[in-house]
Amino acid sequence: MKRIFLLAGLCSCLVVVCAAQRLPELAVPDNYKLAFAPDFTKNNFSGEETIQVRVLKPTSEIVLNAAEINFDVATITGGGASQKAKVTLNKEKEMATLTVGNPIQPGAATIQIRYTGILNDQLRGFYLGKDSDGRKYAATQFEATDARRAFPSFDEPAYKATFDVTVTADQGMTVISNTKVVSDAPGPGDGKHTVHFATTPKMSAYLVAMVVGNFEYIEGSADGIPIRVYTTPGKKELGTFALDAADNIMRYYNRYFDIKYPYGKLDLVGLADFSAGAMENTGCITFREILLLLDDKHASIDLKKDVASVIAHEMAHQWFGDLVTMKWWDDIWLNEGFATWMSSKPVEAWKPEWNIDLDDVRETGDAMNADSLVNTHPIHQQAETPQQILELADDITYGKTATVLRMLEAYLGPETFRAGVNAYLKKHAYANATASDFWSAQSQVSKKAVDKIMPTFVEQPGPPLVSVKNQCSGNSTTVSLSQQRYFYDRALFNAGSKEVWQIPACMKSSKDAGAEECELLTKQEQPFNLPGCSPWVLANAGAKGYYRSGYESDAVRSMAKDVETALTPAERIRLLSDIWASVRVSREPIGDYLAVAQGMQTDRTSAVLSEMISQLDYIGEHLVNDSDRESYDLWVRQLLVPAAKDIGWAPKPGESPDQSSLRGRLIHALGYTARDPETEAVARKLTAQGMQDPSSVDRELLFAVLQVSALNGDAALYDAILSHVKSAKTPEEEYLYQRILTLFSDPKPLERTLEYAISPDVRSQDSLQVISQVMRNPAGTKLAWDFARAHWNEIANLGGAFGGGMIVENTRSFCDAGMRDEVKDFFSTHHAPAADRTLKQSLESINYCVDLKAQQGTQLASWLQTHGTSVGE
Ligand SMILES: [Zn+2]
Repeated sequence: MKRIFLLAGLCSCLVVVCAAQRLPELAVPDNYKLAFAPDFTKNNFSGEETIQVRVLKPTSEIVLNAAEINFDVATITGGGASQKAKVTLNKEKEMATLTVGNPIQPGAATIQIRYTGILNDQLRGFYLGKDSDGRKYAATQFEATDARRAFPSFDEPAYKATFDVTVTADQGMTVISNTKVVSDAPGPGDGKHTVHFATTPKMSAYLVAMVVGNFEYIEGSADGIPIRVYTTPGKKELGTFALDAADNIMRYYNRYFDIKYPYGKLDLVGLADFSAGAMENTGCITFREILLLLDDKHASIDLKKDVASVIAHEMAHQWFGDLVTMKWWDDIWLNEGFATWMSSKPVEAWKPEWNIDLDDVRETGDAMNADSLVNTHPIHQQAETPQQILELADDITYGKTATVLRMLEAYLGPETFRAGVNAYLKKHAYANATASDFWSAQSQVSKKAVDKIMPTFVEQPGPPLVSVKNQCSGNSTTVSLSQQRYFYDRALFNAGSKEVWQIPACMKSSKDAGAEECELLTKQEQPFNLPGCSPWVLANAGAKGYYRSGYESDAVRSMAKDVETALTPAERIRLLSDIWASVRVSREPIGDYLAVAQGMQTDRTSAVLSEMISQLDYIGEHLVNDSDRESYDLWVRQLLVPAAKDIGWAPKPGESPDQSSLRGRLIHALGYTARDPETEAVARKLTAQGMQDPSSVDRELLFAVLQVSALNGDAALYDAILSHVKSAKTPEEEYLYQRILTLFSDPKPLERTLEYAISPDVRSQDSLQVISQVMRNPAGTKLAWDFARAHWNEIANLGGAFGGGMIVENTRSFCDAGMRDEVKDFFSTHHAPAADRTLKQSLESINYCVDLKAQQGTQLASWLQTHGTSVGE
């Protein structure tokens, strides 16, 4: 699954109590025959189910998962006798116990159930959605534990079975499921048709899917496998990019995995109402429309990257997750981390000019930020209840795991790593496996101690910090590497830590010295020797390692002079992020960071400057005092104006996607971060032009120019933007203009946006996003926080299973002790679903920002006084 936003928070739970959430091992399913008949007038469905099971020991009861299901009749047939079963429901555990008078003996048995369920509006289980023209449809979202809302089932990933799905729908409605249609015949009764689908391969219940409604499609094929993109009527042309992407990705994976795509056909279905980002149901992947449908001619490169990466993520799951599935949810990280890691490969091969590898380096930074909190969790985390399982979908499970896999791949070599992946998939196809099965496959193929390295990253929380001391003697450089856990908490960080990781560390020295070497750092402190005399040694050459690096001030200042020539763009991104992390714990003064940023003034790589700009935004929003604002703005302008002059404000024919996207980043940095009057004038002109004809402004620029204009925007601009939201022709346009409504400075338009967020004009899945975006806008932080509290009962459960925790998560953008106390007070009496740990993380983050402001604010002011007008000197 791909989450649309981060949400975390494990509630504490006794293992004994939680373990009771699992089904007793009395029987295992082999096949389900499922017949559904959704009723769009009553918003419910009737279901008929026959499960072929193998009974494991004599028993007079069989326990299934079931939630919000009304049982009409249940029978169990075994040993030639059919018995009516008494059904007892346990609502809390989401289980139904079927009890019969005479014990059923071990061996084959059949469970038959007739029942009804509800087409709910919670975006989970079998749920009701509405397309943009108001037509109803029904769709499923089962991961992790919601198949039980559509059919009584052994709803745990280890119970794999085959499925025969039949759906009776209104005439004219399309029905899509995991496999190809075997037959589609009229009836029963007038105005209905019944669709039978082919038997699926063996798979877990959470991967079953159905979509019923008005849809159209475009079709292609790759390696003989038909691929369709389904959309609601009138949108199919927006699927051409996705179809092209899926075609390329399919061919890539068929070769990489050395197992041909196993599910016969692939459908990609865009849904207007959808709680996650996308879901990897076998052969029938479902998406939010924004992550599937775009206008290939005008869409931004960022959106194209997102769509291609999400398709690649879900398609990677068809092998890693669907074909081979984790035994239990505690290994979900391997599924999700693998799909996240894998998704870059086919996209990079398809569009090398997008520099996807640099986005991966930035993703590592995001994961390390989340992992630097005290309230993080190890990659491998016990999870028993549905809430706990849901809460595991966060930056650690996805981003940290992906980075750790990238590090391992670099250490073993890509071909060896791939051979390990293939051996693992072949051994466990159509079955279940654990993380240790994966490590042992990799250890066997590579003959390296993968099973020693990986547990140090998987079982221990936090990113390691590798501190570098280097000394030149004669014609060699002695390097001492030491490791400790990095925390944003300065007291904990300064206290040091005892954990030891087995770190594949790659070092690189200056161009003159010319050394590059990878070693395994296995002790708390270890010396190494590099040939040549170098004034600095980079500790994460290639930027593949999951660790931060810390340097001495002298080395940083020498490195700052060499960054452009000696380091690759990936290494420069890592370095910016590492020095910034050192500043955050007072390990280095903020001046070191600003000196490195100045050293990259001639850089023209979009991802490098994006990394820098996000840090400059943070400094500008939180650390700069009113009295220093002018000199900071001036310094940022002097730093970035040369890049803006090089790139120019008008797109040039034949320029690279990187240059086009950099242009938008620079408009943001100069117009928003540094309030540069010239850039503001350009933004005003392009805004006026874009309001008349959006297609006349390059999509890479449109968001940035509107953002800058919204800073000083009035009611007239607000009304114009709002009318563009309503008339948007693509999901991209709709979300882009909607986002601008959250970026005004004037409180009046922001108040309108908050009311709009909970109006019927905004889909429930998007309401919290809009409120959160206002909250992240420094001008709207307090307004949105007051609004969220005042409307808590209305908003707490919006957005499906991933619900109101988003507000809790976004309070971490606060940087004020008073507001921190308000957050603490409010959530001590108001419950946010599935957000216990998220709350702790937010309070922690606010504390660090307050602390950083206190300790680095004065240093920043004095640095700006001496350097404010001397960029590039
Ligand atoms: Zn996923």
